[in-house]
Amino acid sequence: MADREVTIVGAGFGGMGAAISLKKLGYDDLLILEREDDLGGTWHVNHYPGLAVDIASVTYSYSFEPNPHWQHWFARGAELKQYAEHVADTYDLRRHMRFAVSVEGARWDEDEQHWVVSVGGRAASAASDQSRPPGVGTTFTTRFLLTATGFLSQPRLPRIEGVHQFAGEVVHTAKWDDSTSLEGKRVAVIGTGATAVQLIPEIADVASALTVYQRTPIWVTPKTDFRIPRWLQRLFAVQPWTQRLARRANSAWLEGLMVTAVLHYRQARFFNQAAARLSKRHLAKQVADPELRRKLTPDYSFGCKRPTFSNDYFPTFTRPHVTLETTPIDRITPTGIVTTDGQETTVDTLVLATGFNLWDANFPAIEVIGREGRNLGKWWREQGYQAYEGVSVPQFPNFITLSSPYSYSGLSYFMTIEVQMRHLERVFGSLASSGARTFEISERANDEFLARMLARMDDTVFTLGSCATSRSYYYTNEGDAVILRPTSSRSARKAVESFPITDYELA
Ligand code: NAP
Repeated sequence: MADREVTIVGAGFGGMGAAISLKKLGYDDLLILEREDDLGGTWHVNHYPGLAVDIASVTYSYSFEPNPHWQHWFARGAELKQYAEHVADTYDLRRHMRFAVSVEGARWDEDEQHWVVSVGGRAASAASDQSRPPGVGTTFTTRFLLTATGFLSQPRLPRIEGVHQFAGEVVHTAKWDDSTSLEGKRVAVIGTGATAVQLIPEIADVASALTVYQRTPIWVTPKTDFRIPRWLQRLFAVQPWTQRLARRANSAWLEGLMVTAVLHYRQARFFNQAAARLSKRHLAKQVADPELRRKLTPDYSFGCKRPTFSNDYFPTFTRPHVTLETTPIDRITPTGIVTTDGQETTVDTLVLATGFNLWDANFPAIEVIGREGRNLGKWWREQGYQAYEGVSVPQFPNFITLSSPYSYSGLSYFMTIEVQMRHLERVFGSLASSGARTFEISERANDEFLARMLARMDDTVFTLGSCATSRSYYYTNEGDAVILRPTSSRSARKAVESFPITDYELA
C-alpha cells in the first residue's frame, strides 16, 4: 500500500485547482508539495515593482470562486497572492500542503503499482510528516501523482560574458529582493518581455538613469485598467451575474485578440492584422520620435510570442533619463555593460528581466520515469512534445501532468486550469465507479490527439505568420510551438466533456 493516495507537486493555482477537484470526489489523503515557502506559485514568487496580472481579473480567476472585491480591473500581484490564500482557506487546502519541499523525481513501480517520489533535504521530513509508515527517509510512495509545476517557474540567466563578474547588485525579476533600492541609481534592464513591460516604468520613476537593453521588441496593446469603484464591487457581490457578464464580455474580447488572431490565423488573419494595427496605433499615439518608434516596432507577426498590455511602457522611453539600447550586448564588466559597438554604460544595478528557461529546465520540471523506464523529459525531446488533451501521457499510469504540451489556452491560465479540472473529474470519477486501481492513456488515443494538434498547428500564426525573428519561448529548442492548444476555448471546453473515457485503460 502506498504511503499516500494522491500527491500534487506545486501549490499554485493549477495545483490548487486539481486538489479542489479531487477533494470534491472524496480524496482526502492528499499531499500538496511546494518547493517555495508558501502557496500561490507565480504570485508568491514574483514581487517585482509593478507586478500585476495582464489579463483582467474577472477572467483571471476561478469561475466558481469569483472575487467581487478586486481593487483594480487588472489585479496587482499582492491581491492575487491574497486571492490564492483565500482559495486555499475556502477549500481547506492548507492542511494538505507542505512547503519548502523540493521534489526531485518520481518513478513508477510496476510491481507495487504506485509512484516512488524522491524529495530533497528538508523536504524528506516534511513530506513524510504525516505519511504511513512515518519517517520514510528521502522517498515516499503515492498511488497518484500530479505535477502542477507551471510553465514559467525556472528563471533564466542570460548567457552573456562577464555576467558573474558584475560588481554591483544583480537581480532577476523572479528573485526580486525587496530590500533592493533603485532610488537615484543607474540601472540597466536586460529584456523587454511582459515582465519588463510592467517593471520598466516603475524603475524609471526612481532611477537616476535607466538603460533598457532590447533584443526583440514586444507587441503591446492598450490596457483598459482602472480602480474598481466601491459601488461596482458591491454590485458584483450582491448581483454575481453582473460579474459573470463582465467575465464573459472580457473573455470574448480576449478570445479574439489572444486566441483567434493567433491560433486561427488562416481563417481570421484579419484579427491578427487588426491586433497589430491596434498596437502600432498605440505606439504612434504615445511616441512621436520616428526612430524610437521604429526600434519599438516588432518585425514579426502579432502573437508569435506572448503580447502584452500597457499604457505606460512606450512613454517611458520618451523620458530624458531613459535610453532604449538596441545594439547587442557584447559583455558585462564589473562596472557596466559594453555593447558590440564598443560603448560602455556604467551601471549600479543590473536587472535581469530575462524570463524563464522552459526547454532545458522545465517540461517536465522534475524527472519522471514511467513504465518500462520511459523518461518523460527524454521521451518528449526525442519523440516530440505531446500529452493527451494536455494532461496525460502513455506509459505513465496514474499520472497527470498539468504543465504540458498543448495544454495552455491562449485565453487565460484559469481557462486552462478549469478544463484540466474537469478532465480530472471525469478520469478519477470513472476510476471510482469502475473500481479500477490504475488509469493510463492509450498510445492510440495519444497519437490521434497529437495528430489533431499538429494538423491544427498548420492554421496558426506559428506556421503561417512570420515568426522567424520573434525568439519566442513558445518554441522548443527544436523549433516547434507546442505550448498553446491550437483550438478555440470553446472547442477545448467541448472536448473535455466529450473525449471518450475509453481512451483511458482502466485496470
Ligand atoms: P520573456 O517573455 O521570456 O522575456 C525575456 C526577455 O529577456 C526577452 O525580451 C528576451 O529577449 C530577453 N533576453 C533573454 N536573454 C537575453 C540575452 N541573453 N540577451 C538579451 N536579452 C535577453 O520573459 P518575461 O518577460 O518574464 O515574461 C514571461 C511570461 O510571463 C510572459 O510572456 C507572460 O506570459 C508571463 N507574465 C505574465 C504577467 C501577467 O501579468 N500575467 C506578467 C509578467 C509576465 P528575446 O525576446 O530577444 O529573447
